[in-house]
Amino acid sequence: MIPIHSVTSDEYPHSLRGAAILANNQIESHENRPDKPEEACGVFGIYAPEQDVAKMTYFGLYALQHRGQESAGIATFEGTHVHLHKDMGLVSQVFNETILEELPGELAVGHTRYSTTGSSRKVNAQPAVVETRLGLLALAHNGNLVNTVPLREELLKSNFNLVTSTDSEMIAYAIAQEVNTGLDWLEGSIRAFKRCEGAFSLVIGTADGVMGVRDPNGIRPLVIGTLDSDPIRYVLASETCGLDIIGAEYLRDVEPGELVWITEAGLASFHWSPQPERKLCIFEMIYFARPDSLMHNETLYSYRMRLGRRIAKESPVNADIVFGVPDSGIPAAIGFSQASGIPYGEGLIKNRYVGRTFIQPTQTMRELGLRMKLNPLKDVLAGKRVIIVDDSIVRGTTSRKLVKTLRESGAEEVHMRISSPPVTHPCFYGIDTDTQDQLIAATKSVAEIAKQLEVDSLAYLSWEGMLEETREDTNSFCSACFTGDYPVAIPEQVKRSKLILEKVVV
Ligand code: SF4
Repeated sequence: MIPIHSVTSDEYPHSLRGAAILANNQIESHENRPDKPEEACGVFGIYAPEQDVAKMTYFGLYALQHRGQESAGIATFEGTHVHLHKDMGLVSQVFNETILEELPGELAVGHTRYSTTGSSRKVNAQPAVVETRLGLLALAHNGNLVNTVPLREELLKSNFNLVTSTDSEMIAYAIAQEVNTGLDWLEGSIRAFKRCEGAFSLVIGTADGVMGVRDPNGIRPLVIGTLDSDPIRYVLASETCGLDIIGAEYLRDVEPGELVWITEAGLASFHWSPQPERKLCIFEMIYFARPDSLMHNETLYSYRMRLGRRIAKESPVNADIVFGVPDSGIPAAIGFSQASGIPYGEGLIKNRYVGRTFIQPTQTMRELGLRMKLNPLKDVLAGKRVIIVDDSIVRGTTSRKLVKTLRESGAEEVHMRISSPPVTHPCFYGIDTDTQDQLIAATKSVAEIAKQLEVDSLAYLSWEGMLEETREDTNSFCSACFTGDYPVAIPEQVKRSKLILEKVVV
């Protein structure tokens, strides 16, 4: 057996679905979690023997931190030897200079995780390292499989020892299973990918090279970058912001149903799916991905500004000032202001040094709730008719607190504009939108939501507006959380877990 040098600390003792284990081992309840869909993961890969690949992966993950804040991990390959470090916490908490120095190698795979399948504990942190006939592989996954039940049964029949509860480990073992029949890395991996259904953007390290893979619908993003080097070295990242931070140039996206194989010889491409059909998650564009990341050759900041302009035209309202919920609502608020002529200002200031709170607040502070993160500018708000723009409403709990805060700060009227349509269905492809009964728009009309949030008016962007403003083929996106029209069929058993309001035929 090829040894894995692991420098990880002890296993976290807790496992609790529906709650997160914080870096200091505290449990964060749903109550304290952001009222937003939460991203599955960020992945990163690099093949560059001349470089400090662990450090570059660290910075790549650092730029992708918004995609998952529960655990982080890096695996490097030094020949056939794998060095692995993964732990609970933010990238900056999991790694330091000393740990990175213990991760030498020619290539690296990195992962930052928010749990969507499998609870939030260290054993589920990635990369998942698995032994095969050809040596070890290290796999980092963004997305969610929907056929985990039959896949797990197949793997258990072959006596694979599944130690985690993640679908990512299942993909790694499916590759091992195929490779162990005598196939090489590429043939074996492709056979394994054809057994997977759902969303998967993968970065896989082996002693021979790094693979970048997207599912046939390309639901989660994955991009290729190049380093300014001779020979050209390649980098993979969930978003272009993961390339920018290490000075890599964006080359192109990994296509839906494509596998890129990066080795000493360069980059080779294989289109492994017979029927790829582009269905990029539209929520990546509206909210998840960073505004400075490129999609369809423009920054998402530009797209989000257009959404704001569009809703200003679709649902105008008179007011004195327009501002966005920091940070994700700001580009759309600027667009709203440009299209409406209503001055853009700031009504709320975000405490930039607060991510998730790692220390539980006192009871008094908890009642103040939102103020830990957002503080109103009372003199700006006093006596004003305000328009507040946000990218989405999921449960509505934060929006309600926000409106209350604005009114207490003297706002005379509060109008809310949302730069996406009502979220009525849960996501099965790697985004945590909770079950359907927790989505405010699944059970309430816009008028009822407005009443519950206590706003003077509320309007959502139209579904057509959201898609047309991409300036791409409007059929090339998944927008199932707004329509219930899932591009990859969801097995009934999986559906039942989240689609509480819809009658499911058993
Ligand atoms: S259901 Fe919604 S969040 Fe999930 S992939 Fe589709 S658009 Fe994205």
